[in-house]
Formats: sequence, C-alpha cells, structure tokens
Amino acid sequence: MRNQLHPETLAIRVGKKTSDYGEHAQALFLSSSFTFDSAEDARALFLGEKDGFTYTRTGNPTVAAFAERMAKLEKADACIPTASGMAAIQAAFLSFLHQGDHLLVSQSLFGSTIGLINTLPELGIDITFVPQTDLLAWQNAIQKNTKMLFIETPSNPLGEVADIRQLANLAHQHDALLAVDNCFCSPALQQPIALGADLSIQSATKAIDGHGRVMGGAVCGSNALIDCVFKHVRTYGQIISPFNAWILLSGLETLFIRMEKQSANALALAQWLSTHNSVKAVHYPGLPEHPQYALIQSQQSTGGIVVSFAVHGGQQQAWQVINNVNLFSKTANLGDVKSTITHPFTTTHARMEVADKKAAGIHENLIRLSVGLEYIDDLKNDLQIALQSIIK
Ligand SMILES: *Cc1c(COP(=O)(O)O)cnc(C)c1O
Repeated sequence: MRNQLHPETLAIRVGKKTSDYGEHAQALFLSSSFTFDSAEDARALFLGEKDGFTYTRTGNPTVAAFAERMAKLEKADACIPTASGMAAIQAAFLSFLHQGDHLLVSQSLFGSTIGLINTLPELGIDITFVPQTDLLAWQNAIQKNTKMLFIETPSNPLGEVADIRQLANLAHQHDALLAVDNCFCSPALQQPIALGADLSIQSATKAIDGHGRVMGGAVCGSNALIDCVFKHVRTYGQIISPFNAWILLSGLETLFIRMEKQSANALALAQWLSTHNSVKAVHYPGLPEHPQYALIQSQQSTGGIVVSFAVHGGQQQAWQVINNVNLFSKTANLGDVKSTITHPFTTTHARMEVADKKAAGIHENLIRLSVGLEYIDDLKNDLQIALQSIIK
C-alpha cells in the first residue's frame, strides 16, 4: 500500500513533479512566472479558484515538490520552504507573534536565533529565556499572553535535550504553540510534530543539503498553521529559490543513509574520545552515560552527528588540537558529509558574554565536531595525532 511506504522510500519518491517530457530525474522549473491560457484562466488562478502557479514568490513546481517531501518526512500536513534557516525561524515567529504577545524560549539556542529573538521587543513582543531542561522553570515562566514556546533539541554544542512531549503539553494547556528547531536531527532522526509539537523548523543548509552547497529552510505543521505562514511568506518574500529547492530535493534522497552512517561514525568517535587521556569530558546524546539517555532514546532515533568534547587544559590546548588536524575541515558548518571541527567559545558563541558562555557550560577547552562520512579509522587517526600534540 502506498501510504505504508517507509520514510526512507518517501524521501526518494514523494513530491516529484514531471513535465510533458517524462524525465526520470527531478525537473528544475527555473521560471519566475507562469503563463495563463486566457484572461479568465488568470483570474481563476489568482483568486485560488483553480490550482496552479502564477509567480514563484507565491508558488513554483520545484519548490512545491520540496515542500511536499519535507512535510511527509516531518509527519506534517504542509510545509513552507524558505531562503535560509533564519528566514524559516523569522517567518514562524512573525506569522504567530504580534504586539503584546509573549514568547518563551530556551537559553540553549543557535547564536543567530538569539540575535533574532533579541530584536522582537522592538516589535512589542515580550521574550523570556528559560533553561532548556528545567521543566519547572518553563511552567513558572508562562504568562497569560504567552503565544509560543521555542526550543532547539539537542542543543548546540552540548547536546542537551528538551522534552518535546512535556513542553507540547505545557504549551497546549495555555493555548500556546510549541515550535521546535529540528536542525540537529533533521526529520531522518526526529519528527517533533509526531511528538506533539505544532511547528518543526529546519535549516536545510545543514544535513538536508549534506554537501555544503546551498542555503535553505523549512517550516512544517498543520494545514491551518502553514496557511498562516504561507500568507506571511507570500507577502514578505522569504521563499526559497527553485534552484536551491532542487538541490535540496536530491539531498533528501540520501538523507536517511547519510544520517545513519554519520551517526554511527559519531558514536564510535564519542566512545573512543571518552577513553582518551587528553580528553576531560565528552558530550554526545548517543552515549549511555548521557544524563538524559532514556528521554533521548524515546524521541530521537540516534544520538545525531554532533560530538563535543573538552580537552585537559584551556583555549591554547583546544586551539592546538584544531590546528593539528588535517582531515577535519576547520569550518563552522555542520551536517556535511565532510567532518568539521570548530572552537565554539571563539566562533559560534564568540559574541556571547563570557559569563553567559560559562553559565551555559561553553568553556575555552571545548571542541565541537560534526561527523561526516569518511572512514572511521581515518577520522580517529587524524584526531589521535592532534590530541597527541597536547600531551606534555
Ligand atoms: C544553521 C542553523 C540555523 C540557521 O540556518 P541558516 O540556514 O544558516 O540560516 C538555525 N538553527 C540551527 C540549529 C542551525 O544550526
């Protein structure tokens, strides 16, 4: 039966739009507008009395194919693809939050997301930051005008997990929405909507592309919610380029197998790092030692592809490790098939106050890896040589 197909199959088969030529590959409809059969036809299309495309800011066949596939994988009714992950987050906020509303957000968020949230008070939207894993603090911070709770799980770079089911219940008790940034897992490893969230948001730039080529984002949810996001994006113009949607469609075709293998590589590296005498601590949601291991197993299918670890020493030792790797790319991107290494304290979290970084557990000796598809022993050997360099 069609509707019993597995997600791995859906990631390859759902949503394809074919032209009259019957091409087997996904067609790229790189066209900013679409022609009408007649004036009557144009009127019907514009009034929504007839399905079809008029102008790419409001709809495009390649973008529609990507939206349909994303929605299926996120177990949502519908999806709006956007120009970047930040555009997706902005669209999700501004479609549902207005002057006088209150937004409750986790303290453990991507840096640019915190920057975006900090501009919301200018629009008359109140914000409160809450510790990611402290359910009581979320309960106590709810106000009468709270319209949305927003989390990112697992968090970057320490892999702290928020309980999606419990936060969804809390949001719904107060007629608020729960929105989840699902970028670290991608829909291959976690489907927040199936766990009760109202919106699942992606930076498709990361694992969905998987090859570090294009920017993109997505907001997924129920038909009613996504209709609100559509009306906002149609007007404000954050829609994705058809070219980027076309690249990301092929990214989705290999997403499951990449995430499965990259997760296995990440777990193997995390286990190996845990035994290394230059390493003080390893943070990886796939390790049984993780304090939230039971919760993690109940909401995501692997520990994911990001491993962080603290070395003995400080910034000098961490930088020395980064400067002595050869295979790992020194770049802040993640989710790529190429493994990457970065120093959160001086890159992704550089603009945070030092006291805030320390309160969040991001110290000078912390290193973040996004684990790719290279052969595991090559990755270990590369890190081994770099870690050896800090042993006195
Ligand atoms: C990268 C990232 C974003 C922003 O996405 P862009 O595509 O870079 O705009 C948002 N959230 C998380 C968790 C990210 O890693």
